[in-house]
Order: sequence, then C-alpha cells, then structure tokens
Amino acid sequence: MKRIKAILSEKPGHDVVVKGWVRTKRGNKNVAFIALNDGSTINNIQVVCDLAKFDEELMKQITTGACLSVKGPLVESIGSGQAVEVQAAEIEVLGTADPDSYPLQKKGHSMEFLREIAHLRPRTNTFGAVLRIRHAMAFAIHKFFNDKGFVYLHTPLITGSDCEGAGEMFQVTTMDLNDIPRKEDGSIDFEKDFFGRQTALTVSGQLEGELGATALGEIYTFGPTFRAENSNTPRHLAEFWMVEPEMAFYEVDDLMDLEEEFIKYLVQYALDNCRDDLAFLNKMIDPELIDRLKSVISTEFVRLTYTEAIDILEKSGQKFEFPIYWGVDLQSEHERYLVEKHFGKPVILTDYPKDIKAFYMKQNDDGKTVRGTDVLFPKIGEIIGGSERESSLEKLERRIEELKMDTTNLWWYIDTRRFGTCPHSGFGLGFERLLLFVTGMSNIRDVIPFPRTPKSAEF
Ligand code: ATP
Ligand code: MN
Repeated sequence: MKRIKAILSEKPGHDVVVKGWVRTKRGNKNVAFIALNDGSTINNIQVVCDLAKFDEELMKQITTGACLSVKGPLVESIGSGQAVEVQAAEIEVLGTADPDSYPLQKKGHSMEFLREIAHLRPRTNTFGAVLRIRHAMAFAIHKFFNDKGFVYLHTPLITGSDCEGAGEMFQVTTMDLNDIPRKEDGSIDFEKDFFGRQTALTVSGQLEGELGATALGEIYTFGPTFRAENSNTPRHLAEFWMVEPEMAFYEVDDLMDLEEEFIKYLVQYALDNCRDDLAFLNKMIDPELIDRLKSVISTEFVRLTYTEAIDILEKSGQKFEFPIYWGVDLQSEHERYLVEKHFGKPVILTDYPKDIKAFYMKQNDDGKTVRGTDVLFPKIGEIIGGSERESSLEKLERRIEELKMDTTNLWWYIDTRRFGTCPHSGFGLGFERLLLFVTGMSNIRDVIPFPRTPKSAEF
C-alpha cells in the first residue's frame, strides 16, 4: 500500500491506487474534483473524475467524509497547488458519510466543538497536523536519549508510595465501594484490597527512575502520569505524558545543559521533519509559530536564581494578581512576565526556597534554598521541572523529618543514599506542554488525542 504522501512526490506517468477520506468535492456538469486525504500528510491528492465515465448514483455517494479507493493514472496537474493528480479510472466507495449527520463539513469549527467530537477530529487538518507532530516528537525523544546511550526504563503506573508530593493522586482499588471492608476501629482495611495496601496511579516515575540511574547510570522514562488536581486550566490534564531522565554523576550545571540541549534538539527535529504541518499551523493557528521555534534554537537560555527573579519582579512596577515576595511560589503570570516581557527568551530558574520544593532536592549551603531548576517558556510558563537530588542520607532524612513525612513505603528510595550514593540529577518534561509550544495550539486538551480533565472522560 502506497500512502498519499509518497505518491505526491512521484513522477507522473503510471497507474496508482489511492485510498482515503474525502475532504471536499467540487466541479461542474462535466468534471468533479475530489480532494482526498489519508492522514499520511497534511496535503490532499486531487482526484479528477470525468463524469461521463461514472454512474450518477456513485457520484452522489462521494461526499465530505466518505472513504474511497481510486485507481487511475497519475498525471501532471494543470491546476495550481499540486504537481500531480489522479485521473480516476475506477472508484470504489468503501464507506459513505451521510452529509446530514457527518459533523465535519467544510466550514471551520471551534476547538470547543471539535473536543465534543474527539472521535472524528483527527480527520481535520489541524488535528492531523498536531497528531503527526506528536508522533514525531515522541520518536525524537527516544532518538535523542538512545543516541546518548540512555536506557529507557519502564517505571510502574500503580504505586504504593503516597508521599511523592507532586500532586493529588487517583486511588486504585478493587474494593466494593458499597461495602468497604473496615477494621475494628472503623478505618478502611486496605489489607483486604487487591495489593494488600493502599495504591494509586503514579504522579511521576522519578523515584523509581533514581533507582535506575544509580544502577544503569543514565535512564529516562516516557509514559503516562496522572494527577487528580482539580485545575481547569489550558495547561493541566488529569492524564498526561511525562519524559523523565535521571542521570548519575550530573550536578546542577550538567542538568541545565542537558535540559537546554534536549529542548533545542526536539524543536530542531520538528523544524526539519514536520515542515508541511508546521507551515499549516503557522498559517492557520499562530502566525508567529515558526519564528518562535527558530528563536528558541538560536538563543542561549537565561539562567537565573529564584532570588534574582523575585528582585526583577518586585522592581517591574507590574501589577500582578498574586503578590510577589521572597518565598512565594511563582505563578504563571510571573513566569510569563520574566520570559515574555523581561528577557524575551526561555529562562531556567534555579535555587528555589526549599519550602516550596520537594523533599528530595539537593539543599544548598545557605540552609534556605535547593537546587531545583524550572525551565520557563514563552506562551506556556513551566515546561520542565528538575533538580539535582539530595545525595546525603543524613540531609535527606533530616528533611523528611522536618516535613513530618511518613516514609514507611519509601524505604527502598532512601536505600539509594545508604548504599553507594552519588551526585545525581533529573528532570520531568510535560510532553503536552512541549507540544503546546511546538504546535502553537493554545489549549492542552487539543494536543492529546483523548483528553482527560475534571468531569470529562468521554471516548
Ligand atoms: P505546574 O506548576 O505547572 O502545575 P508542577 O510544578 O506541578 O507544574 P512538576 O510536578 O514539576 O510540575 O511536573 C513536571 C512537568 O510536568 C511540569 O514541568 C509540566 O511540564 C508537566 N505537568 C505538570 N502537571 C501537569 C498537568 N496536570 N498536565 C500536563 N502537564 C503537567
Ligand atoms: Mn502542578
């Protein structure tokens, strides 16, 4: 089976078979022009039908959304916009699409409407482009790490450690919710549950990733993560994909170098390999998209401490919704001010107050800050969260105590610091946040095929 993408770049003069879905049909009494798309490329192939050769009933079935198989010679096209077209000799209608009920007619639909028909939206130009770019970025991620010798580690999706702290978790249980087993004191008896303990869907593969890094040296995970946070924003999903590399012997500067190299590689890969789709999105969705992608590759990211950032924000004279003072967690309005207004390029922020960051981040000597690194991007804010990890058993245990964390289920994590501990670092890149940046789409629900958000799990 040859796909339309390949056929469009062939020389004319031979017979071809094209199969795909009708995007449009137009024409006159004598001839019909059908634009056919098979998803291999944003570009349609034009099928020209001499109406004298075809049955009227057959032609009536060829409407937007119908699926066709067409055989005929590939000829040079006299119309503009394409080099070749198919002169139909045989047409088979594989599947009709009733024009009265098929929802994807020619006119432009709103993103909101398309979310309601997420089962069909991959057939639109926009979602076809987004999903091909999504694939290309997933492939490039594996290529980047494989070329560097990283090991792809599969970390579990069901976890029994409840103190990862990255977000609210979805419980996993097989207990009968109408008849929950209880202990004598009335509390839930999780020993009767499937795993004999309380379990949840993972919010991050990092902790297990660190086990991999302290054995295999350099690993990455790339898989789904789940957060039951009730945040209805254009940048949060309840189910999203995360890339989490973890590297032994990397200190914070090595970490930042890798973060910057990684994102630049992915953006360059998109520019090199997704030209037609990016050109389409640049035209239809975001006229600054390609310029923005190019500018990220050609500039050095700003590296700035949290304390310096607070200083800039305080002196900005800008009215923020959330007040600014040392110790506050930065909101997206602050991050975007730094990236878009102040510097005009991506920023890597470091050395955050320890109280707003996770227990495992390496503590600085000042006793106040930790070696966290957030990479902030234009349009989206935080795209990467990373850190050098605390490698000292004593310091890690003291921090756990300060935070009064229950670590009974984390004994295995703490063992990494007990046996052959080493400096190491890692980060998490939200795959859909990357895709927002690379596609120019503005809502995270539109860069994943079937989004899961509060009150929404259709399809
Ligand atoms: P935010 O402050 O934006 O909620 P976070 O601090 O919770 O992010 P981390 O826990 O550091 O994020 O997760 C690592 C990365 O995963 C983030 O940098 C972001 O790219 C992505 N991410 C986090 N939460 C979500 C979500 N709910 N949906 C999609 N991506 C997310
Ligand atoms: Mn969050």
